[in-house]
Amino acid sequence: MRIDVVSIFPEYLAPLELSLIGKARQDGLLDLHVHDLRSFTTDRHRTVDDTPYGGGAGMVMKPEPWAQALSSVAGGRPEGAGKPVLIVPSPAGERFTQALAYELAEQEHLAFACGRYEGIDERVIEWAGEHFTVRPVSLGDYVLNGGEVAVLAMVEAIGRLLPGVVGNPESLVEESHSDGLLEYPVYTKPSVWREREVPAVLLSGNHGKIAQWRRHEQFRRTAERRPDLLEAFDAGKLPRADRTAL
Ligand code: SAM
Repeated sequence: MRIDVVSIFPEYLAPLELSLIGKARQDGLLDLHVHDLRSFTTDRHRTVDDTPYGGGAGMVMKPEPWAQALSSVAGGRPEGAGKPVLIVPSPAGERFTQALAYELAEQEHLAFACGRYEGIDERVIEWAGEHFTVRPVSLGDYVLNGGEVAVLAMVEAIGRLLPGVVGNPESLVEESHSDGLLEYPVYTKPSVWREREVPAVLLSGNHGKIAQWRRHEQFRRTAERRPDLLEAFDAGKLPRADRTAL
């Protein structure tokens, strides 16, 4: 997969050189490029913002540097290649979920446009539709200072789904949100720590009982912490054996 990120703070994306995503880049599984929006300006001050039409607080990102940067990202694609997907991080976008991460992990080319200030001139979003499939995406119902933190989270969530990035793909299957429920609690050695014992069933060696306990814990935890997920959960999709834990 190819990923292009455009930002006025390219250094903000440095963590994408670390850990599993950094290794995926080194291994050639992920071809990730970060671009400085200011290098697409033409004035001496490398200006990327201006005052908002209609008045109000804050500044708005100017359209032309974005058009130059995004044209450069979209250009040079092989003949017949489909449009890349442009993710525009925004608190006014659709919510980023594990399902969307899976969907985006299927794409060949993703681009991310990191807004700052009060956001990007809306005409850029309309114009970009000529070159990209544009998706404004929100990390959650709160406001960040810029899109970079959202991009770090999204690239990590998407990148770890690419084949070969996570060593044991089984670990992706059992995670929170993979089946609509939160994950069960996990424990490691020692079996007794500060007078707290690991649940006995996990030491029993009975794999059927362990699977049943884990499924039960998934429901208990989801009901306690995220009842909204439980309401949307379709138990009919569970394997028959797992339904006995309900
Ligand atoms: N005025 C904008 C609004 O109310 O919708 C908020 C602008 S915010 C201060 C600056 C930038 O941070 C946004 O353009 C976006 O790139 C990013 N951002 C802020 N909150 C975000 C969120 N919840 N999810 C994704 N990106 C976000």
